Amino acid sequence: MLVLMSISSDSEIARANRRMSLPDLVKDLLLAVGENPSREGLLRTPQRVAKSLQELTSGYAIDVDKLINDALFEVSYSEMVLVRDIDFYSLCEHHMLPFFGKCHVAYIPDGKVIGLSKLPRLVDAFSRRLQVQERLTSQIAEIILKKIKPLGVAVVMEARHLCMEMRGAQSKNSPTVTSAMVGVFRSDARTREEFLGFINGTKR
Ligand code: ZN
Repeated sequence: MLVLMSISSDSEIARANRRMSLPDLVKDLLLAVGENPSREGLLRTPQRVAKSLQELTSGYAIDVDKLINDALFEVSYSEMVLVRDIDFYSLCEHHMLPFFGKCHVAYIPDGKVIGLSKLPRLVDAFSRRLQVQERLTSQIAEIILKKIKPLGVAVVMEARHLCMEMRGAQSKNSPTVTSAMVGVFRSDARTREEFLGFINGTKR
């Protein structure tokens, strides 16, 4: 162990000890891409980038359990609850570039529902982190499953990924679609069809 530690260079140890602040890191980043952080337009950029990064990753600090626990209600309603077209904005964890689009969430209650306004906040809490779309989709389905214990949950997300579009790997007209279907949405084709009909706009 001691031997391994001793091979770290002095500068590496100094760097680790310094615990750089986010604005300092952004300043280094500007230098690394060949910019001059001292020119007028960039003077306040490190602070701005740091602030916006903190906002875009603020989901880590949200207590999702608490968010949901405060908004659970007992009901005898057992028809599909659907919130369509929830806007979401996230950052892909591979490039830290935005991916964003629409999220559709549905569930069939079994004695419990969650306040409707909480669903977009739930989507937000998981989106404002470094994510991959597949995991984001299943995290939303899983927390609803865990908290409401419904007969089924369905989550569909359609997104544009700037890491693919800006770098030319994907055309702008083909959004990435991911889905998580649990319970009756998986086992019952008619329920699934009804949900897909709603989100595709064939039923309103
Ligand atoms: Zn990416």
